[in-house]
Parts: sequence; C-alpha cells; structure tokens
Amino acid sequence: MYAMQSLSDQQPPVRPQSPPLLGHEIPVLGDWRQELQHAIRDPFELCELLGLPVSVAQGAQDHGFPLLAPRPFVARMRSGNPNDPLLLQVLPRQDERRSPSLPSDAVGDLAAQKADGLLHKYFGRALLILAPNCAVNCRYCFRRHFPYDTVPAGDAAWAPALDQIRADATIAEVLLSGGDPLVLGDKRLSRLIDSLEAIPHVARLRIHTRLPVVIPQRVTTALCDTLEASRLRTVVVLHINHANEIDDAVATAVAKLRGAGAMLFNQSVLLGGVNDSVEAQAALCERLVEVGVTPYYLHQLDMVEGVGHFETPVPRGLQIVKELRQRLPGYAVPRYVRETAGEPHKTPLA
Ligand SMILES: *Cc1c(COP(=O)(O)O)cnc(C)c1O
Ligand code: SF4
Repeated sequence: MYAMQSLSDQQPPVRPQSPPLLGHEIPVLGDWRQELQHAIRDPFELCELLGLPVSVAQGAQDHGFPLLAPRPFVARMRSGNPNDPLLLQVLPRQDERRSPSLPSDAVGDLAAQKADGLLHKYFGRALLILAPNCAVNCRYCFRRHFPYDTVPAGDAAWAPALDQIRADATIAEVLLSGGDPLVLGDKRLSRLIDSLEAIPHVARLRIHTRLPVVIPQRVTTALCDTLEASRLRTVVVLHINHANEIDDAVATAVAKLRGAGAMLFNQSVLLGGVNDSVEAQAALCERLVEVGVTPYYLHQLDMVEGVGHFETPVPRGLQIVKELRQRLPGYAVPRYVRETAGEPHKTPLA
C-alpha cells in the first residue's frame, strides 16, 4: 500500500504567506503538493538526471515497493556516483532479494494495534498511523510491508483511535506517524490536533516525519501557526541519515519549526554503505547540531524482508558510537538502540 494514493484532503494548496523569516531566501520551486506529485518514480529518469549509466536503472526492480524520491531530495545527490549515500536510500537494488526469509513485521506492530491506526506499545505514549503513504520510499523501511489499507481514511475514521486515547488517562503523549503524517494537509492536521487538545490528559504531541527533509516547503506558515497556537508541547522527530541531506532549505524548515516552539530531534538508521562509518556519523551529528536539531536515536536496522543488504553488525555500531563519544559533546551523540517486539521500551545497545 505504499503506492501514492490520491490525497484524501482536497483543500487547495497552501502557500506560505510570506518568505522565510531567516536572513536568506530559499527559492520556492513550487507548492509542496506539487513536489509530492512530481516526485521521481522512474529509475531511468533518476539515473539520467544523475548522469548514471542505464545499467544502474536496469537493476532497479522494485519488488512491490516502488521508487519514490522527491526532486528537492534528489537535487542533493552527487551526480555520477552510483554509491551516493542519498541515492542508495531510495534506488531499488537487486540485493533486496537476498533476504527473502526475514519476517515482514519485525517489531510487532500488528500485535500492538489497539484500534485501526493506533499502536500502543509503550507506557504513556500512543502512536497514530495517520497516512497511508510517505513522501519518499526508503529502501530500508521496516514498515514497507505494513498493511496500510487499515489506516483510517477520513476524519470520521479516526474516531475509534481517539476514543481509545480518551479512555486511557495514562496516555500523555500522542505520536503522529505513518506513512508520513505531514502528507496530510494543514487543515486536516489542525482538526486532528484540535481533537487531541480536547482530551485533558494529552500533554504532548510528537510528529515523526521525513517530509521537512525531502520537501522542505512542507513546513508551511499554516503548519507552524497551528503548532505555535497549540496548548500541547510539540516535539518533532526528523529522520535524517546523512549530513548531505541537510541543505539550506532544510535548515530553513528546521528554523521555522523551532520558531513555532517545537523541540527538534533526529533519528537515523545505521545503514551499510550509507552511514556506517565514524566520519559519516560524526558529520551527521555535527550538521544536525549546527542547524539546531538534537541527535536522538541511532537505530539498529529492523530486519524485514528486502532490507538485509543494509545490515551493519552490532559490534561495528558499538565501535562507531564509542568513537563518537570521544569526538563529540555528549548531547551530540545519539542513543544506539534496537527495537525488540514485546519489550516495554527501545533497547539500548551502547
Ligand atoms: C518507538 C515508538 C514510540 C516512542 O518511543 P520513544 O522511546 O519514546 O521514542 C512509541 N510508540 C511506538 C509504537 C514506537 O514504536
Ligand atoms: S519516511 Fe519513514 S516510514 Fe516512510 S518509507 Fe521512509 S523510513 Fe519508512
């Protein structure tokens, strides 16, 4: 269910009312919805844009999880390099067939589903799967097999999940996840946030998203206004795996979110060939801190079918984190964790 579906929220595109508030201007290439629609889906087009041989595209069979890469993200790839760390995250590879015997749900999502679209695994925190798709298809994604057809489609369909949250006073934090929750339009998100605000025991809103990274224009003035006006403490967890993903437009998007009062964190996945070196991790952490984002988690890869070629052995991850500690301030070193089905929290590895 990863194929792009028609967006269920048919409001007209929202344009920022004013240019970014920072000292420099970013070229607004188009509305974020247009960027989403015009994202690259054809491996041959991607390879041509990057000056890569046709043979690279010919090896890119998608195994039911199609290529999807927005142009602002592709623009940060270095041309002529088939091993570019951003390209490897999105281009299907023949290697994906190497791990067919792995489970399709490694982290026990299905057992934790308490209502359609509601996962409740950890004390105090419930996770809403709001959207059936993302703005980018990451080849290593552990949810690449998630049955997204159970995701509630319209506002009314959220009612069972909201009822569940209302009925459980231990839930102080609601995580919006997906898919990517920011593929929903600003008006729909605002209506959902209103509903959550009406539940007295909900104190925090956490948004897990990759959209401000792959399409920075997604951080609209309307979105920032909604977050700023909310009584909920807002936490945004970005998902960035490599320093090259953070260009000026991403820095601007981050600054707008911080301006709206959100706390900003990042999680990444340890990925062979992409960021499995001390240099790559240190550069990522330093760049995150530079733009005002705190490194939060470094995840050991969740092993699901089709991702095995990205696996980095845990001892290698431990060595990388040990060296990061020697190089970086403590707040810039992410917690190295793995998710184990049935555990009451993420399991620290370091
Ligand atoms: C990871 C996760 C959370 C959040 O865990 P934190 O350790 O608080 O970041 C919450 N719910 C689900 C279902 C998760 O997978
Ligand atoms: S954005 Fe997140 S959920 Fe979506 S494909 Fe990438 S890793 Fe998976």
